[in-house]
Amino acid sequence: MPLRGDPILYFDNNATTRVDPLVLETMLPFLTEQYGNPSSGCRLGKLAANAVERAREQVAALLGCEPREIVFTSGGTESINAALASALQMNPDRRHIVTTAVEHSATLKPCEALEKQGYEITHLGVDGLGLLDMIDFKHIIRPDTALVAVMAANNETGVLFPIRELAAIAHAQGVFFHTDAVQAVGKIPIRIAETQIAYMSVSSHKIHGPKGVGALYINRRTAFHPLLLGGGQENGRRAGTENVAGIVGLGKAAELAAQNLEREATEVKALRDAFENGVLERIPGVQVNGDRIARLPNTSNLAFEGVEAESALLLLERAKICASAGSACMSGSLHPSHVLRAMGFSNKRARGSLRFSFSRFNTAEEIEKVLELLPAIIAKLRNESGNRFIRAAIRRKHF
Ligand code: PLP
Repeated sequence: MPLRGDPILYFDNNATTRVDPLVLETMLPFLTEQYGNPSSGCRLGKLAANAVERAREQVAALLGCEPREIVFTSGGTESINAALASALQMNPDRRHIVTTAVEHSATLKPCEALEKQGYEITHLGVDGLGLLDMIDFKHIIRPDTALVAVMAANNETGVLFPIRELAAIAHAQGVFFHTDAVQAVGKIPIRIAETQIAYMSVSSHKIHGPKGVGALYINRRTAFHPLLLGGGQENGRRAGTENVAGIVGLGKAAELAAQNLEREATEVKALRDAFENGVLERIPGVQVNGDRIARLPNTSNLAFEGVEAESALLLLERAKICASAGSACMSGSLHPSHVLRAMGFSNKRARGSLRFSFSRFNTAEEIEKVLELLPAIIAKLRNESGNRFIRAAIRRKHF
């Protein structure tokens, strides 16, 4: 593998991933000499249009769907917003949405806004392992339900949800099903053609592609109303001149993700397990947040008794270890993770939890190194005077 021996121990791959060098190589011509607009008929335009179509095939191959079912967007957030908006536009008389309490803010925030506009939102709960409460799902869908939106894998705990079963139930009752698969794609196999999923959101920067580009799968039998109106790009489903280099990068990232899927289930999982078991053996007072079986192969969310995650991140940073407290979008704020709170954990446990997320660019040596450093960091944090010192440094803002 290239890029090994990175001075930073990067274990925050659910926040974002490094761009694979092969992805960058594929993108570069489209940022230099192949600068055509895919909508223009000239030679350069045709080259760009062909490159976008090739990327569509690559993404479709990773998801197991038809290329025409893929619309390129500016990322996971736009894809989710577009799916929600379309489902509601298609069912103007239906005013009920079902989602979960542990979705990413890209779903929760639009739902909050819709609630203010008079929609009713049902948030499905999770149990102490982060697993979805399935028992009543059939009865939660009502005649006025416009959409069910359930993520495929949780970004904080990695816990997987049974989207295939949920989509089948929703479909049988004539309700659109959207899944935010931003964290699942490229980490676990997905054959979407075999499901009743209407929409699926994908993000490039979680699979070693560039940031600011994503895709929305729209089942070919599902009517779609675009969020962005303007030019006729993307077959009239997403206006705006295409981010050609980004799309080409996403396409290559998808191709590489498909080639590396097996490695996620074996090598990346082995690294995660070595890390997690190593921490549990060496550091007392640590609990795993989330089900250890129905979980992404790359994610480990750990609760450290007597530790504040914010302080821990500062010490980890000094040791050049990059991890995360809750989701990246929440860092900088002192709010305990809504995911861990929904699992029934106290504010204290939620605030003492750290997420380590791995990728194919991590190595066994990096795991050894973090296992060497982490016990001393946690011991220091558990020492009250150490904690006081760190809190004071945070207040002075010059750690
Ligand atoms: N959904 C989930 C589960 C995520 O983890 C993220 C990113 O953190 C998003 C959606 C948003 O994706 P993007 O950053 O491409 O807008």
